[in-house]
Amino acid sequence: MNKEEIIERLVELQKQEFTRMSYYDIEPLIKSRRINPTAAQINIIDKYMNRFVKLDKPHTCLLCGGNDYSWGLQHGSAYCTCGWEYRLYHYIEDEEGNNLTGGRIEMALQYHPDSYSVAEQ
Ligand SMILES: [Zn+2]
Repeated sequence: MNKEEIIERLVELQKQEFTRMSYYDIEPLIKSRRINPTAAQINIIDKYMNRFVKLDKPHTCLLCGGNDYSWGLQHGSAYCTCGWEYRLYHYIEDEEGNNLTGGRIEMALQYHPDSYSVAEQ
């Protein structure tokens, strides 16, 4: 995809409705780790998860439809061949840096298209 095609596709994605991930999507995993977050902690986890879209095919790139991604330079991030970002490692912490989910969560998630901007300077 060239730059114009990527911008066009992103605008198209931003017009679509996507369900966001939530605390409840990872609650079984958290509970399996014998973690019982408080309401305030659930709120933090939920806010974190809301950045990502809930997809039937989480490994299929929203932008180009491909599923060929590889690790990026930033820990826990991967990138599709088209440049779209996946976050695979999740460290959800409170303001004091306490991990709220009993450690790292490994899950391929894609950011909501609203997270991206097509504006150029
Ligand atoms: Zn892609």
